[in-house]
Amino acid sequence: MKRRDFIKTASITSVAAGGIAAPAIVHAKKKIKWKMVTTWPKNFPVLGTGANKLAKLITEMTDKRIKVKVYGAGELVPAFEVFDAVSRGTADMGHGAAYYWKGKIEEAQFFSTVPFGMNWEEMTSWLYYGGGMELWRETYQPFGVIPAAAGNTTVQMAGWFNKQINSVEDLKGLKMRIPGLGGEVLKRAGGTPVNLPGGELFTSLKTGAIDATEWVGPYNDLAFGLHKAAKYYYYPGWHEPGTTLEAIINKKAFEKLDKDLQSIVMNACKVVNQNMAMEFTARNNAALDTLVNEHHVDVRRLPDDVLAKLKSLSEEVVTELANKNPAAKKIYASYNKFRKQVFAWHEISEKIYMNVR
Ligand code: CA
Repeated sequence: MKRRDFIKTASITSVAAGGIAAPAIVHAKKKIKWKMVTTWPKNFPVLGTGANKLAKLITEMTDKRIKVKVYGAGELVPAFEVFDAVSRGTADMGHGAAYYWKGKIEEAQFFSTVPFGMNWEEMTSWLYYGGGMELWRETYQPFGVIPAAAGNTTVQMAGWFNKQINSVEDLKGLKMRIPGLGGEVLKRAGGTPVNLPGGELFTSLKTGAIDATEWVGPYNDLAFGLHKAAKYYYYPGWHEPGTTLEAIINKKAFEKLDKDLQSIVMNACKVVNQNMAMEFTARNNAALDTLVNEHHVDVRRLPDDVLAKLKSLSEEVVTELANKNPAAKKIYASYNKFRKQVFAWHEISEKIYMNVR
């Protein structure tokens, strides 16, 4: 039934029933219900709760014209099927990280993090003002998916080790949980990277099934109790210097929205992108203090020669990824140009200030 006919019928019925016809409401609020699937366990600290915040923000800012319901990993679809679910329209939106889809879109990894690459501030600047966002949209376009930056872990820790790392030699034979490009780098350094879900890290480290693991940073690592399973906590997180988390939106669902709602959805992502990075920074400060002063964790810096070796191997791995296909090449060219310029600028601004303050 057409809307005008409906109003007419409703008025006639109302009058016929002895009531007074109410004036037709021209801008009736459409209620839209969206499902958001995530790669995180439900309510997982910062990552899962950040996705919750995004859903709540969209619901609040639209005065419930869009109600977003969040599903943890495995509730509606398994973690690694989030992208497909949003692409198919099984879910209207998702929250995760682009490197999870590398089996499907290898070059998507550039939109999450690159070993020895840009930190959260630089990465976000590239996305918003350096052409990164346009390339990201282009990458997901064939899948009917719209991406948005929606969170950042900020620089992570190198991880928890039960063996000291004093030289490049110590990486040989090291069995470490480290996924993605970082894992490939460790492999080339003679180590054995393994990929385990977060829930298995503690036991694997405690029983000696692995020698080391990376996870996120002090706040998330403390929550898992990793300090009770390993002797040394190494930094810096060379492999994940500022991992961007993403919101992905089904293109058809997005295009059905009124313009004001579209703007709210995209700007809510922007708010959460900033907010999550700030929350990580604030909580990591406090958690590091607890780890050092209450649990007396041995916090160590990876030696310079080890970092230099990992860096040269990273260049190799990332260059190979960039040469895999024309799309990867184009994205890397943009990323790399921005990286060079922003590193030069930060050399005389952020970095020098950090050293002298
Ligand atoms: Ca990590």
